Amino acid sequence: MKDKKYVYLFNEGNASMRDLLGGKGANLAEMINIGIPVPEGFTITTEACIKYYGENKTISEDIIEEIYSALGKIEKKTGREFGNKENPLLVSVRSGAKISMPGMMDTILNLGLNDETVKGLGRLAGNERFAYDSYGRFIQMFSTVVMGIEKKKFEDVLDNAENAELTVSDLKEIIVKFKKIYNDETGSNFPQNPERQLLQAIAAVFMSWYNPRAVIYRKSNGISDKWGTAVNVQSMVFGNMGETSGTGVAFTRNPATGEKSVFGEYLINAQGEDVVAGIGIPQPIINLKEDLPECYSQFMNIAHKLENHYRDMQDVEFTIERGKLYFLQTRSGRRTAQAALRIAVDMVEENLIGKEEAVLKVEPRQLDTLLHLNFDRDELKRADAIAKGLPASQGAACGRIYFTSEDAKKHHDHGEKVILVKTETLPEDIEGISASEGILTTKGGMTSRAAVTARAMGICCVTSCNNLIIDEKAGNFKVKDRLYRKGDYISLDGSTGNVYGKFMQTVLPEVSGYFSIFMGWTDDIKKMAVRANADTPGDVKKAVEFGAEGIGLCRTERMFFNEDRISYIREMIVFSTEEQKRRALYKLLPKQKEDFIKIYEAAGERSVTIRLLDSSLYEFLPADESSIKNLSDKMGVNFQKLKNTVRSFHEFNPMMGQRGCRLAISYPEIAEIQTKAIMEAAIDVKREKGYNIVPEIMVPLVGGVRELKYVKNIVVKTADEVIKASGIELGYKVGTMIEVPRAALTADKIAAEAEFFSFGTDDLTQMTFGFSRDDLSKSLSSYCDKKIYEFDPFQKIDRAGVGKLIDMAVKLGRETKADIGLGICGEQGRDPSSIEFFHDIGFDYISCLPVKIPVARLAAAQAQIKDPR
Ligand code: ADP
Ligand code: MG
Ligand code: MG
Repeated sequence: MKDKKYVYLFNEGNASMRDLLGGKGANLAEMINIGIPVPEGFTITTEACIKYYGENKTISEDIIEEIYSALGKIEKKTGREFGNKENPLLVSVRSGAKISMPGMMDTILNLGLNDETVKGLGRLAGNERFAYDSYGRFIQMFSTVVMGIEKKKFEDVLDNAENAELTVSDLKEIIVKFKKIYNDETGSNFPQNPERQLLQAIAAVFMSWYNPRAVIYRKSNGISDKWGTAVNVQSMVFGNMGETSGTGVAFTRNPATGEKSVFGEYLINAQGEDVVAGIGIPQPIINLKEDLPECYSQFMNIAHKLENHYRDMQDVEFTIERGKLYFLQTRSGRRTAQAALRIAVDMVEENLIGKEEAVLKVEPRQLDTLLHLNFDRDELKRADAIAKGLPASQGAACGRIYFTSEDAKKHHDHGEKVILVKTETLPEDIEGISASEGILTTKGGMTSRAAVTARAMGICCVTSCNNLIIDEKAGNFKVKDRLYRKGDYISLDGSTGNVYGKFMQTVLPEVSGYFSIFMGWTDDIKKMAVRANADTPGDVKKAVEFGAEGIGLCRTERMFFNEDRISYIREMIVFSTEEQKRRALYKLLPKQKEDFIKIYEAAGERSVTIRLLDSSLYEFLPADESSIKNLSDKMGVNFQKLKNTVRSFHEFNPMMGQRGCRLAISYPEIAEIQTKAIMEAAIDVKREKGYNIVPEIMVPLVGGVRELKYVKNIVVKTADEVIKASGIELGYKVGTMIEVPRAALTADKIAAEAEFFSFGTDDLTQMTFGFSRDDLSKSLSSYCDKKIYEFDPFQKIDRAGVGKLIDMAVKLGRETKADIGLGICGEQGRDPSSIEFFHDIGFDYISCLPVKIPVARLAAAQAQIKDPR
């Protein structure tokens, strides 16, 4: 008895077996189970792929036996025989990992054809032309995909033959040429034995798991190398059998807008990837209603059925063989953020899914693209389009044009905004695409590779812009007799397909009704509050618009750097007596107070956490001689003396220097003035507007309870005096940042003096790793290549180290004060997987940049659904 099964007939699998059968295989099985017409076939498991590598890249005898046995069953079901000269079974060999990814092996169609079976196929179909067309395609696919022979060699042969419809004898001639290429390139004849063809193709799929492109994709998407890919072997159906045959791809709803109408394209008398590859001009699916009405209505029914079954918008591939419809693939369709929101909201309204399921349907990061650009409306009205293509992926893009991915990437790396212009993108263009603001192609439809990739990445894309003539070599394109050269600006409108031949200003869009309905659900579900890091009244306003429930971090450094204030802080630094210092600072007080008033007004009654000054004083001082001279003149102090003072503030390691609470300990008057400003502003706003404000004053860079206690005493004393003098009642809170490892370690002590902890995960990460942010980014790629780090811990919380410290600090803090407030204000507060961690640990809030607030709200809601608390 064998312990494991490595080959599953489609009817033995189902959708839940993704890990074993890959996404494609599992869904083919599922479709068969629910009675959808799918050509018979079987799946060789991902475990067989792992075994293949484990056994020195050989397919073991027992697996080969299983394959043959499955093939035998397919022969029975189809009534055809693999390799039979009269009645040949032909198959496709398709790769399919757990998650679909670019870089995996391309599909091989028509496998099983050779010099004999091709004749049988011709007789069987009563169509010799079709048989030789299929054979030619097979030789080309096998040669390029399995043997890695350059595609261009075959295309050159076809290009030379491209005049008029090819006759049977043309095709035969082409086949002779194709075989010669094969022979020249490999040194042997094109394999005639179908079993050999099959095993070679299967091995090639296994090998493609470590194809460089697939490896890069996995790396950049955090997918494990260990999974392996499955292989699907499926009996062929033919879309190239004449005018009642065809092939196509479709989405059950519009993937760009989300509109509830089937959206697809097909080509009559074509096979396989012809539509996706942008060969020929595909017809919109609605035309099928006239071409093949029965197929059309059957197609619509199945599309509907699939959507209901999977409770999600599906991306399907289909083929029609002489009027009979087959489905060849289904999967959840990729979609723009707009579409994702609309589909989620519509499906709830259609009673297809519940709100929680809807909230899980949208990828948090996708919301980023929603806050992507549009053109300035007035400018758009005035602009004339130079060309129009298909609106393949929404958004607006303006940039300089480049014609190769290398160029696009290079110029992007130099800080340019770029637009990639190509006839059609290739799988290897992925880096160029991701470096671009927008993609413009002359071929391909809404389901072309460029369109699909761009939508998935949230990049604006216009396809099928066929009145553009690209000369890639010369680096230009021509449209209506005008030449646009490499480096020229153009603008693309991904919602209309318009192309503009000039620089156009882009702006953030207003969010749609779907957005607010959807975000409302996230707020109903989530338990963790989402606040914003915002330092200015403008930022606070924006944060509130994006749905912030408070301000988690308001930094005060920037206020000190303003033109009209820096001189006072400089005086404060340079003067030597406390009295002089305080007097200088008092000049700052009204200005600082004014800032806070505006911030409170913008925040309404939302809580605002204000951090006391956290920057080294050196940063406020002039650096070069002439500015020091200027300052000495202005202040009436001796130049040399001032120079010495400046020098005395220099720090060898400012990151670990006199910043944070250390400043307030050396210069208590700073904390005093800031507290005064914070409290007086709150009182003024309460008096004027009636807002009940409870300022949260946050002490940075605390490493032990005594530091906090010292600063807190100043804060409390000042605040109480202000309150008393005002005669108005006002609450306030004093808390601390936990950003020095020692603070996390002694959090039980610190909690005695703090009403809240706000984890400053940037500094905490920096100090826990002993790695400054900038220096890490220099090392990061080699660290990732060598698998020392799997990700950048400044972007995504390092659960094993920094996370452990946070967890410890939370527990210690709660031991002392059960209801201590807990939040995070570091960069990782915008990262969905980190947000899940903060949720699990029980934080009250996360705080992030205003534009990231929707992402954070959604991530917090999803964390709540996955792990309710
Ligand atoms: P990809 O993962 O790149 O989409 P697929 O394995 O889905 O590759 O194959 C691409 C196309 O090849 C399919 O959409 C379908 O049109 C065609 N194809 C694959 N297998 C068959 C088959 N057994 N019969 C007919 N066409 C097929
Ligand atoms: Mg496919
Ligand atoms: Mg800090």
